[in-house]
Amino acid sequence: MGDWVAGKNRSLTDIFITHGHGGHWFNTNVLAERFGARVVATEGTIGQMHANVAARPFVWDEVCPGIPASPVTAVTVPDNRFTLEGKDLVIVEAGYTDASSVLHVPDLGVVVAGDVIYNGAHLYLSETSLAGLDAWRQAIDRVASLGARSIVAGHQNSDLDDAAARTIAETREYLDVAEELFDTQKTAVDYFNAMVERYPDRLGRTVLWATAQAVYGMRENPAEDPVQFIVGGWL
Ligand SMILES: [Zn+2]
Repeated sequence: MGDWVAGKNRSLTDIFITHGHGGHWFNTNVLAERFGARVVATEGTIGQMHANVAARPFVWDEVCPGIPASPVTAVTVPDNRFTLEGKDLVIVEAGYTDASSVLHVPDLGVVVAGDVIYNGAHLYLSETSLAGLDAWRQAIDRVASLGARSIVAGHQNSDLDDAAARTIAETREYLDVAEELFDTQKTAVDYFNAMVERYPDRLGRTVLWATAQAVYGMRENPAEDPVQFIVGGWL
């Protein structure tokens, strides 16, 4: 990615982190140091980044060995906004823990949507399912209200376009389908198979399986700490 950025012959000034999931930012400092860039995030995201660093030994380093050192160097910006070549970049809090924020670029009609809007990949629902999916739906509404034409999704099939209308509608539909199948499917395997049948072309079946194990694990063991099932879904 660093070579790709260098090949653009631009000056990389800021790296924005949408949310704290390690898979979205653990390599950030490699890029930040190479290009002398600032790392920007919300207060909530920075807290989530620290939590993900703490979880490295028993989750991330197990699943993805060889991740470089990942100190949290992100800083907040006043009023959650900064600029690029004089144009506003506006951080919008998404309002739920699984994906803390999105970045709105009004001048381009673009939203960098992190894990609020997916594009052709299975949604990670383990953490969100604890509080119900409505918080996610409200976050989608918030993104939709920005009126962007294009969405940069954190999980994306690169063969697909970036159309906001389609990706927003498909993410909403996926939540509805998942909620219905959580009700009708008896086991994690049943849910996994039903989702694969419903969405044969979506990428990220590892994410689908992690979600299935976590949601059914929590449901079948309500007296136990849910975190062990969220973590265990990846292992
Ligand atoms: Zn993600």
